[in-house]
Amino acid sequence: MSLSIHVIGLNNTNSQVLEEIAVLVSEAFNADVRVLSDDNVPSEFIDTFRNQYRAEEVLNWVYGKWGGEKVVLAIIEGDGYVEGLNFVFGVASPQLNVALVFTYRLKLWIRNKDISRRVFIERLRKEVMHEIGHVLGLGHCSNPSCVMFFSNTIFDTDRKTWKYCSNCAKKLKSLGVVLRHEYIFDRSANRTY
Ligand SMILES: [Zn+2]
Ligand SMILES: [Zn+2]
Repeated sequence: MSLSIHVIGLNNTNSQVLEEIAVLVSEAFNADVRVLSDDNVPSEFIDTFRNQYRAEEVLNWVYGKWGGEKVVLAIIEGDGYVEGLNFVFGVASPQLNVALVFTYRLKLWIRNKDISRRVFIERLRKEVMHEIGHVLGLGHCSNPSCVMFFSNTIFDTDRKTWKYCSNCAKKLKSLGVVLRHEYIFDRSANRTY
């Protein structure tokens, strides 16, 4: 089975960033990837008191506009939340085949400005792989290096890799998703001395 993924940039997400993410997901999942942009999230989904998007409503809107058989991954310049959480890095629905990643928090807490783009891209890669993992049927993983580990803070994101641990990779395989081996976490690489 070949996966089809549409990468959608919203609110003027940088086109080079979208290209990098497109290469990432096409490589990791051997997927057919299309990139679309030039659209904005309607302001009706902003909670004006919090100045954040209501993530679940945005997800439904994305599904209504682009959804279907393929996986839709939307990268959104902005911040989002769901009821009960201060913010979310992203949300995903395996039923709708849709994942969203919000970029705002991924740009914070970068100490060294010279490497800020690299750090941002690295974080974005992790959040993209995490949310697509949910779309494909994975839950959270207890291995803090696995990309499916739940990030409570950006420091959790910085600590984990953008790879799936062997357990998560096995589960994906049982669901019919074949991962390129470079995206499977090698236990031996996580030794601490
Ligand atoms: Zn998650
Ligand atoms: Zn895992």
